[in-house]
Amino acid sequence: MANFRKLDDLGDVKGKVVLLRIDLNLPMQDGAVTDDTRVRAAAPTIKELSLKGAKVLLLAHFGRPKGMRDPNQSLSLVLGAVEKVLGHEVMFVPEISGDIVKQAVGILGDGDVACLENTRFWPGEEKNDPELVKAIAANGDIYVNDAFSAAHRAHASTEGLAHVLPAYAGRSMQAELEALEKALGNPVKPVAAVVGGAKVSSKLDVLKHLVTQVDHLVIGGGMANTFLAARGVDVGKSLCEHDLTATAEEIMDAADASGCTIHLPYEVVVSKEFAANPPSLRTSNVHEVAADEMILDVGPSAVESVADALKTCKTLVWNGPMGAFETVPFDAATVALAKIAAALTKEGSLVSVAGGGDTVAALHHAGVANDFSYISTAGGAFLEWMEGRELPGVKALEI
Ligand code: ADP
Ligand code: MG
Repeated sequence: MANFRKLDDLGDVKGKVVLLRIDLNLPMQDGAVTDDTRVRAAAPTIKELSLKGAKVLLLAHFGRPKGMRDPNQSLSLVLGAVEKVLGHEVMFVPEISGDIVKQAVGILGDGDVACLENTRFWPGEEKNDPELVKAIAANGDIYVNDAFSAAHRAHASTEGLAHVLPAYAGRSMQAELEALEKALGNPVKPVAAVVGGAKVSSKLDVLKHLVTQVDHLVIGGGMANTFLAARGVDVGKSLCEHDLTATAEEIMDAADASGCTIHLPYEVVVSKEFAANPPSLRTSNVHEVAADEMILDVGPSAVESVADALKTCKTLVWNGPMGAFETVPFDAATVALAKIAAALTKEGSLVSVAGGGDTVAALHHAGVANDFSYISTAGGAFLEWMEGRELPGVKALEI
């Protein structure tokens, strides 16, 4: 990763207008924000700029309004949640460019914060339209991007603005980039990757990239079944993409060629029905799965041997649960592995970075999310980064 400008590189911003892109795409239920994690992630950057006396204009998208105004997707709906986290009032501006924004800037005092409307109300946002970029930039002096989770998209507010204004990474963006650099960009070796989840098809590019980058690739979850099938294992009724066994073989060949050891479970937890604590639950060698059984988790001995491999590693990057963790006891392998990774991290022998919607939920379920070196809450952007892709919103910040 090349270098990028950080808030430390900002000169005097007193009285200057900062266009600050953050992630306000908050989950809502019955008109109320159900999780304000993303606001809390952006708060340090908002506060820092505000304390330095900048006039802060928040820019964000919300939902998928497809280039049209939709009162049900107005950012005014999450304003209360933003004010609550910041502990002070935030002015709402129902535009993102033009005279109304200009007037709002005139009213704001140094250190005040305003939230502009949902950027996706304007079709130029997702088209990265230079005219819209110019119009937004006209009301600002500086651009700060603190939304890594939107950096895989080259939109006006995530990418375009970085080319027309002095551009800086916010604190949350900076933390994410530094953690990802430590995990895969320039990691301390040996490196282990754990990839799980439901399907191989959703993470083909991740697997293909990882085998060229890491020393150990642990494959678990439903996707392990496809790899097991490729090795001639009868996986019974398990979730398995039989049409992808040739691809799985190619990935295993590529791993061999680059000296990456692939770990597939040799022991699994199976049952005949997918339910909590089913009567047919048993632990089995992978070669003894019956035709009417499903593999729903990695077995305890197999987890132990993964743990042994992990103990020899210095860096771990993890995406995807080891089993169907939402249903007990198929959370056991994910929880056990999470605890081992957390303990090694606490001891200081492992840098551990994890990401992905279900993965983060599983780590919280295991009670160890705070013990990982870094947890990324950026779903799509995290996966694209694991695929080795350059994220346009990040690239635009590079010096
Ligand atoms: P993430 O959101 O972290 O990227 P995924 O969405 O790829 O993770 O995968 C998570 C899903 O995979 C979970 O819903 C989990 O129940 C499912 N899963 C894991 N292992 C299995 C399995 N053996 N059989 C069926 N589903 C599984
Ligand atoms: Mg998921």
